[in-house]
Amino acid sequence: MKKYIGAHVSAAGGVENAPLNAAKLGATAFALFTKNQRQWNAKPLTEKQIEAFKMNCEKSGFTPSQILPHDSYLINLGHPEQEALEKSRNAFIDELQRCEQLGLDRLNFHPGSHLKKFSEEECLDRIAESINLALDKTTGVMAVIENTAGQGSNLGYRFEHLFHIISKVEDKSRVGVCIDTCHAFTSGYDLSNKDCARETFDLFEEIVGFDYLKGMHLNDSKKELATRVDRHDSLGKGFIGMDLFDFIMKDDRFNQIPLILETPNPDIWSDEIEQLKSLVR
Ligand SMILES: [Zn+2]
Ligand SMILES: [Zn+2]
Repeated sequence: MKKYIGAHVSAAGGVENAPLNAAKLGATAFALFTKNQRQWNAKPLTEKQIEAFKMNCEKSGFTPSQILPHDSYLINLGHPEQEALEKSRNAFIDELQRCEQLGLDRLNFHPGSHLKKFSEEECLDRIAESINLALDKTTGVMAVIENTAGQGSNLGYRFEHLFHIISKVEDKSRVGVCIDTCHAFTSGYDLSNKDCARETFDLFEEIVGFDYLKGMHLNDSKKELATRVDRHDSLGKGFIGMDLFDFIMKDDRFNQIPLILETPNPDIWSDEIEQLKSLVR
């Protein structure tokens, strides 16, 4: 199978449960939080947890390129104030180290917000600087920047933002991007039919490049095009519709990267995964 398809599964009770939860869905990929995503502090992973996680991944056939860990929502690598920035940078390094311990090769995160305190460009530069500092202190884990819906003062809502950050990251082999289809759509990139999807991804190739694509979030959208609001919907139920997901499943440029559902109804994840698999040529 050239397409790795799964969902952002629960790691309740310990990270080692995530691969088991994914396997139950019939998934060939998964995403997880390696710590509580709404808290700054977390207990370090124990040796036992790390071993169990690795064993469960192996048992269910998950390799690092099928797994896309997501960092805490609290982290803002472009924070305009020094003290808060330091806190975010330290938390991000901790997240990278946890991935390293688990044998994972990429960490997905939202770029950051300027909080209306300085310009978009200054904020993007700061995010790149944060990535450089964090990559310097870790090995083997890639920083995977997610595009955003552009809600509030969140950056990353244009492909140009993603490229701006990448261009200032020193080690290009350790930076990548994750495109969330809901975020792309509500930030203004039409994906509601195959021609629009083709145009949007041609633009992505031109501005960022598929070489940097290290994961996708497959979500429909409860909000219309260019509303800059982030509300995921189940596949085919929102304003994007199934054409896009059919397009992605049939396009080889999306092979061998984690394709992750963050759709709102976990009860139908296994059906959504089945449906996506059936669309692969
Ligand atoms: Zn996402
Ligand atoms: Zn979202």
